[in-house]
Amino acid sequence: MSEPSVFTRIMNGEIPAEVVASTDTVVAIKDIAPQAPLHVVVFPRTDQYRDVVELAAGDPQLLADVISVANSVAHEHADGDFRLVFNTGASAGQTVFHVHAHVLAGGLTEKSVGA
Ligand code: 5GP
Repeated sequence: MSEPSVFTRIMNGEIPAEVVASTDTVVAIKDIAPQAPLHVVVFPRTDQYRDVVELAAGDPQLLADVISVANSVAHEHADGDFRLVFNTGASAGQTVFHVHAHVLAGGLTEKSVGA
């Protein structure tokens, strides 16, 4: 068995985090190193999907849940507009292999797609 991901450890209460949304299937937390005025990561409770490609193939409804929570968070914590980033693979910047969406919002001024 592999080590639990940092997001699983947060869900288990082993690592503190600022939770901004939580449903039966998905959790959203403030990113520890924000890259925008609002920077939240949204991830499924299950850690069985390492990236968005696996999630889309394995459980499209769960991917829809991630996007729905991203939208809710952007409306509750910013003006409702947001950028959604799924880093996919280490050379694309993915460091946590428990699929998650970066929600970037709140006065974005650049077209940059990084998170
Ligand atoms: P990735 O690089 O995999 O696309 O995104 C992982 C994100 O998780 C990074 O933006 C990083 O700042 C965030 N992160 C990593 N460890 C923690 C943590 O312990 N707490 C919180 N809130 N965010 C974390």
